[in-house]
Amino acid sequence: MILVLQIAVVSPPIPLRQDFDYHPPLGVDCTLLVPGVRLLIPFGRTKRIGILLATATEPRIQTPLLHALELLDTTPVFPPELFSLLRWAAEYYHHPIGDVLFTALPAPLRAQKKPSKRTRTQHHNTTTESLLPAPSLAEPGPRLSSDQQTVVDAVRESRGFQCFLLEGVTGSGKTEVYMEIVREKIAQGQQALILVPEIGLTPQLLDRFRRRLAVPLAALHSGLTDAARYAAWRAAADGTVSVVIGTRSALFTPLPRLGIIVIDEEHDLSFKQWEGFRYHARDLALVRAQRSKIPILLGSATPTLESLHNVELGRFRLLRLQQRAGAAQPPVVRLVDLRNQTLYHGLAEVLLNIVKEHLERDEQVLIFLNRRGYAPVLRCDECAWSSECRRCDARMTFHRREWQLRCHHCGTQTQAPRTCPGCGKVTLHPVGAGTERLEDALIKRFPAYPLVRIDRDSTSRRGEMERLLEEVHSGQARILIGTQMVAKGHDFPQVTLVVVVHADRGLFGPDFRDTERFAQLLVQVSGRAGRAEKLGQVLLQTRSPDHPTLHTLLGGGYPAFAKEALAERAITGWPPYSALALLRAESADREVSMAFLHKAKAQATALVQNGSVEINGPMPSPMERRVGRYRAQLLLQSERRTDLQRVLHPWTPALETLAAGRRSLHWSLDVDPVDLL
Ligand code: ADP
Ligand code: ZN
Ligand code: ZN
Repeated sequence: MILVLQIAVVSPPIPLRQDFDYHPPLGVDCTLLVPGVRLLIPFGRTKRIGILLATATEPRIQTPLLHALELLDTTPVFPPELFSLLRWAAEYYHHPIGDVLFTALPAPLRAQKKPSKRTRTQHHNTTTESLLPAPSLAEPGPRLSSDQQTVVDAVRESRGFQCFLLEGVTGSGKTEVYMEIVREKIAQGQQALILVPEIGLTPQLLDRFRRRLAVPLAALHSGLTDAARYAAWRAAADGTVSVVIGTRSALFTPLPRLGIIVIDEEHDLSFKQWEGFRYHARDLALVRAQRSKIPILLGSATPTLESLHNVELGRFRLLRLQQRAGAAQPPVVRLVDLRNQTLYHGLAEVLLNIVKEHLERDEQVLIFLNRRGYAPVLRCDECAWSSECRRCDARMTFHRREWQLRCHHCGTQTQAPRTCPGCGKVTLHPVGAGTERLEDALIKRFPAYPLVRIDRDSTSRRGEMERLLEEVHSGQARILIGTQMVAKGHDFPQVTLVVVVHADRGLFGPDFRDTERFAQLLVQVSGRAGRAEKLGQVLLQTRSPDHPTLHTLLGGGYPAFAKEALAERAITGWPPYSALALLRAESADREVSMAFLHKAKAQATALVQNGSVEINGPMPSPMERRVGRYRAQLLLQSERRTDLQRVLHPWTPALETLAAGRRSLHWSLDVDPVDLL
């Protein structure tokens, strides 16, 4: 009897939805050949790392098999539950298994030489940032309110898999609830996995957990070195740490005694991977919890309509925290009508007067504008010239400090012109305002009050984010200007006024999810105001003060908005009332991507039974040209996920064949896309 190894090519991964047959390496003990071990294999003219998926007694092809070269592990790199989750994910997202496993594999295990002993034993000095030691004493928490206690009890009393949606306004004490639940699980010898949107931005959160739980923590996020990540991964897999806090990909951490998963800010877009293996960490976490038969808790002040719909269907159990913890009161929200207003660099004079009052009372002010740079476009007053990107259907942003034009889509940078490239006159003007411009304007207006600006430009240097946040926390900075980087998670106790400069952005967007995003962002930003004893105030600048969405939000808050939005989706049939898959194609030649999508559509159409899946397009993407390539898409929509999957299964291998040989064509399939861009 012969033994055939079915192996996925993992590193470097290949773009094929296929695995390959090999003979075992010569002289290897066959009992070691269990699914999940890595092997070095010959592949074409290269050597690659593969992962053993299964063994068989018959090869699937006629040509003689090659021998794998070397067995790299004595035990599987993924424990069985995680391995089967990853294989399930490859099927569900119709993504090449090798690339799925590659994504989940820590970088040192992707390298062809074995990780040296040294990196394994050096935990303590090289990885201080990823493995946080336990403080000697646990800091006691506040006495939980009865609402908080109800949540803790509900999770404790659940048996097996159960998903809880914790809807709690910002500052209502959700984090306290997470910590209590996790504390109980650890006391029972279990492990906890906590996924958060962007840990690098919230070092305080890690610290809070560490002090409260008094156990070692593993932190997993993109700001760490590969070695540090690997050390944390190993400590979790060994069971030497009980708590893993991390971003999206921390979902793939082996945790042998996993007892609870918490997803904080479940609505956050960063749980979705945008490239390559396009998974949604929240959705996969649900599958993981279900397979591990454990509870999972999704928390948010602004849950997605998907999750709220799951509550309606009885799949999730809703738990609520409706009051802010301690003495904090909800902020007072008001609209500032921008029409007929004198503006100072995009800020209404009436609003600046209120800013002044807060500053004079020694309070902090947060100015929110989700647009970095000085101005989104440089335009000529005389002719039609404006700063368009040559490679994208987009404007280049003017960055005044560096006197540059930068495309935020493709990264192109050029020196900004001083005279108009169109007509040669000195008639160029920055139009609109970004954070840089607000910074200049507010320094000029309020020179006595120290100001910090937090956006991707001001925090690009390592450690800069922490330094700026510290200036805010210490109270030294009085004015804080920020993009969405400051909208989430942060606790700014001295901020009493939040100004949303552009509260119209998103109200009129092209995507069916735009208003949901807008409402979430607005509520999250507003939640930064008045987190402590002092009453908070929020001012929304708008040119459409009569917009119904704004009124619903102001009148009934996010729950009222969500109710209305869900009713609208039910009528329009968009998710959560249908399932989507988006096939994207791009090429330097517009015709190539369109021709591919037309053929793809014909194939898919032939696979659809009884009209159970609707196929729309092909159509150009909302931003058709990006980085010099033309983008187009085909949208598949179905009332039932299973009908959609039934088409995707035979379709994706056919697409692979269809695209084969077209070098300039890139295509990708996005199952459950979070936007249609
Ligand atoms: P969220 O995660 O919902 O934004 P947090 O858990 O961070 O809320 O709580 C907000 C603030 O209220 C924190 O400073 C926290 O310590 C405090 N807090 C939470 N629960 C209580 C409680 N039961 N009693 C007193 N203070 C509390
Ligand atoms: Zn001109
Ligand atoms: Zn560009």
